[in-house]
Amino acid sequence: MTAAPPTVDLPLLPLGRGVDLRSERGVECPGDLPSASDPDLVARALAAKEALGDRVFVLGHHYQRDEVIRFADVTGDSFKLAREAAARPEAEYIVFCGVHFMAESADILTSPAQKVVLPDLAAGCSMADMARLPQVEDAWAALEAAGIAQDVVPVTYMNSSADIKAFCGRNGGAVCTSSNAEVALEWAFQQGQKVLFLPDQHLGRNTAVLKMGLSLDDCVVWDPHRPGGGLTEQQLRDATMILWKGHCSVHGRFSPDTVDDLRATIPGVQVLVHPECRHEVVLKADLVGSTEFIINTIEAAPAGSAWAVGTELNLVKRLAAEHPDKRIVFLDKTVCYCSTMNRIDLPHFVWAMENLVEGVVVNQIEVDPETEKWAKVALDRMLALPGKTSKD
Ligand code: SF4
Repeated sequence: MTAAPPTVDLPLLPLGRGVDLRSERGVECPGDLPSASDPDLVARALAAKEALGDRVFVLGHHYQRDEVIRFADVTGDSFKLAREAAARPEAEYIVFCGVHFMAESADILTSPAQKVVLPDLAAGCSMADMARLPQVEDAWAALEAAGIAQDVVPVTYMNSSADIKAFCGRNGGAVCTSSNAEVALEWAFQQGQKVLFLPDQHLGRNTAVLKMGLSLDDCVVWDPHRPGGGLTEQQLRDATMILWKGHCSVHGRFSPDTVDDLRATIPGVQVLVHPECRHEVVLKADLVGSTEFIINTIEAAPAGSAWAVGTELNLVKRLAAEHPDKRIVFLDKTVCYCSTMNRIDLPHFVWAMENLVEGVVVNQIEVDPETEKWAKVALDRMLALPGKTSKD
């Protein structure tokens, strides 16, 4: 029999239109932006940064454009950046050059006195948007109807909205990153017999099958757009991993064919991919790991080595420019940036910074206290896990 909780119809908002501050979706940027052709933009950004001094701390995610990342006080993955922000209590303003869920995490981990600013509110994350709270609550109701909710531990990837992290916190679960997903799943399977993994099916599947020794048959995919997730109650009862049907629009593009083509054309090339890639791509790769792992691997690689890298293009281009002694190519035939990461451009950065100089806080990201409390519970469970914690 098919479990059939009510489904929620949530039409996607096109990026840059409409307003939905509760989600990762695109929203309009208020105010007058400087022109992108203004030749003084770099000087204006430098002047604003100088005027603000230690009152501002600028974070730059690895996937950001070069034109913005040059102004970052620290670069890193989302979790490292959130922790860096928390370690700067003297900074009144945290300007987060990244996407919405990252700014939320920074707000959760920083003090109430610190204000987190996202220069363009349309910088969301399509993956985070694929799991919205009403949909996840529907899924949980189906697990209850199937009589298994008490056996299921929800684990969400860092790339999720604060209310999904809070859902996991409230229901005995945790957050994980791409580098500690294995440890997080080990922990989860000590707490319960099954895991509901949100929102990235690929990270969940790759970790369960390649690290935890589960089979593909142990995994089912919950599709939030189908009644009962498209699964029968028996399928839910039989599954060990219930994967949410979400993915990264950038990492989901890489294909096994491209791996084969590059191996045929570049002698000795090593394929290095992020675990957000599809399982069939990960199976063909030489090395799989988080963004930090990818950076460290390229830095440690010998001169003359050749690499095909499956992660966001801004980072791959930057790695190629920084390591001219190595051959570094992108693992896709087409140019594919993360469109939402790219929303943070120099005009938005200058606009946000100059407003701060004037004492006007624009595009502040604030998580409500109840959501923050439970999201922090899930984050703290992750922080209590043994080992290194860094991600995407
Ligand atoms: S690269 Fe993928 S996971 Fe990262 S922000 Fe873009 S869409 Fe989201």
